[in-house]
Amino acid sequence: MELSDYDIREFISSLPKGITLVAVSKTKPVEEILRVYHAGHKIFGENRVQELSSKYEQLPKDIQWHQIGHLQSNKVKYIAPFVSMIHSIDSFKILRIVEQEAKKSDRVIDILLQVYIAEEESKFGLDRDEVLEILNSKEFYELQNIRLRGLMGIATYTENREQVRKEFRQLHEFFLKCKSEYFAGNSSFSELSMGMSGDYQIAIEEGATIIRLGSIIFGERNYL
Ligand SMILES: *Cc1c(COP(=O)(O)O)cnc(C)c1O
Repeated sequence: MELSDYDIREFISSLPKGITLVAVSKTKPVEEILRVYHAGHKIFGENRVQELSSKYEQLPKDIQWHQIGHLQSNKVKYIAPFVSMIHSIDSFKILRIVEQEAKKSDRVIDILLQVYIAEEESKFGLDRDEVLEILNSKEFYELQNIRLRGLMGIATYTENREQVRKEFRQLHEFFLKCKSEYFAGNSSFSELSMGMSGDYQIAIEEGATIIRLGSIIFGERNYL
């Protein structure tokens, strides 16, 4: 199932005000992205650098591209010249590399720290202590070419709605704590990216400002 052009417009305008929709187009061809683009939507997300760069080359330049998947250090240079936000900063190491590559492109890149919130095993994401370590370090505040806009999280893939709600709620609480303790008076720390096709309503109820939706917009993917 995918949405018709009319339904895409309806769907986007039905989202609460203040919610940013990232249309996750991974595995989908440029023609399908163009359909959504022509329906008026200009923010797209990809999780692989190579696919992101190739789509950037082929598609209109007023699209805002978000990198939502784990980023390898040797790939940052390919997206630094154009990426509009990176959701998946999961180490200080990758943060430093984004800073360097952004500087080379003479840009300031918006980033989110990806916080590990799920119960299942996952390779990626910082735990809360690691986030605080970054926020407590002097070095972080010397980075000139990245701008920390907030946090991102992926809930456990489960039918248990209460579990998902609990994880989003805890991330929201942690977001508010970071905001008040480290960014009081700095309005740019304002984004909480959480919620996918299966759980975005819960995410919105629990304080998301950015939702990342793939299959609900583009239909099921054949592979992940
Ligand atoms: C694929 C992906 C999404 C979108 O998933 P859907 O369930 O299709 O909405 C969101 N966030 C991340 C990090 C993803 O990799």
